[in-house]
Parts: sequence; structure tokens; C-alpha cells
Amino acid sequence: MPRKTSQKTAADLLPKQLTLPALKDAAADCKACDLWKLGTQTVFGEGARRAGVMFVGEQPGNEEDLTGKPFVGPAGKLFDKALEEAGIDRAQTYVTNVVKHFKWEPRGKRRIHKKPNAQEIAACRPWLEAEIALVKPKVVVALGATAAQALHRAKFRVTKQRGEFIESTLAPYVMATVHPSSILRAPDEETRRLEYRRFVDDLKKLARVVKK
Ligand code: SF4
Repeated sequence: MPRKTSQKTAADLLPKQLTLPALKDAAADCKACDLWKLGTQTVFGEGARRAGVMFVGEQPGNEEDLTGKPFVGPAGKLFDKALEEAGIDRAQTYVTNVVKHFKWEPRGKRRIHKKPNAQEIAACRPWLEAEIALVKPKVVVALGATAAQALHRAKFRVTKQRGEFIESTLAPYVMATVHPSSILRAPDEETRRLEYRRFVDDLKKLARVVKK
């Protein structure tokens, strides 16, 4: 269950009746850290009410911020393609982020992703913990280093431990792989192709564990 800490977090905003729609409504007004000033809107998680797998990314990107939906931008489209290849129906999963507002800095006319800091991640954590408590996934999958470190609360290295199923207090298993946006940022076409294959392989392994 969500815990209170001495720093300001979203814990005080959790609704008395914990349901996903009530959480989403409450999170829409969240000002527990300063990121609400940057983002257009809170981008809450979406998906099956009870899902065998919950995917957790770092934060919404530009398109997610504008649409209010998680994983709908270029990385989200690649994610959908990889899920399909791995035989995972996205509608049967739940998709969310460690931080629910888009953190960015201007570069010309563009808004460039900026990594959330530890305070922002801690402030937003009650929303994620409540989502996990309600959805009760068998596996929580961290997409990328920020999500992996936030979920493991420790120095977790995706480069070394990706694809491992680790027992956790959050869910029976926590697993980590890369964020699909890192595949899009690969320096050349061949690296992109190889990284995509490795990502699909991680998802296939996940599909086998979830079906057990
Ligand atoms: S990032 Fe999270 S804690 Fe910060 S304002 Fe948004 S919803 Fe609240």
C-alpha cells in the first residue's frame, strides 16, 4: 500500500475508495511536485482492470502529454508492434509510467524530454503503488533504467539484469527491459534492428511467464 514520507508526495491525494477511475480523477489535480506546471495534463495509466502484466515506463512523452494517453507516440507504436510479435495483447495489459507528467526543456520550438529526479519520482510513487495494488499484475515490467531503478529502489542495471524475473513486494515478479524509445535512438539501422529483436525476445519470455 502507498506509504507516507516526510517529503511531499501524492499519498494525501489518494481517494478513500480505491478504484482506477477514482485514482485517475484524483491524479488529474495532482500538484505534489512541480511537474504539473510543465505538463499539459496528468497522463495516468490505462489498460485492463486486472492484468497479468503491468508495463511501467519513465514518463509520458510529447504526444502522450498532448493526448493524455500513455505510450501513443513513436515509442508507443514500436511497443505495440513488439507486443504483437511476442503474442501479447496490449488490451490485456496495463501500461503506465513512474512519473505522470511530461518533464521537458525547450530546444528551439521542440520540447525535449528531461529525466525526472528522485524527488519527483518519490512524489509520484503513491499513484504507481495504488495502480499496482488494484491491477494486481503477476509481473511488473520496468521499461528502461529510470523505471527499473524506481521499482527496485536500488542500483539496478538494465544492461546486466534485463530479462530476469525478480521476486518483489510489489508483485510476484518484477522484470526489466529497455524502453522502446532507446531502440528508436539507436545510432544506425543495424543496431536498431538488433535491439528491436532483443526487445521482442524479452517480451516473448515475459509472455511465457505470464501464461504459466
Ligand atoms: S508528476 Fe506525479 S507527483 Fe508530480 S504533479 Fe504530476 S502526478 Fe503529481
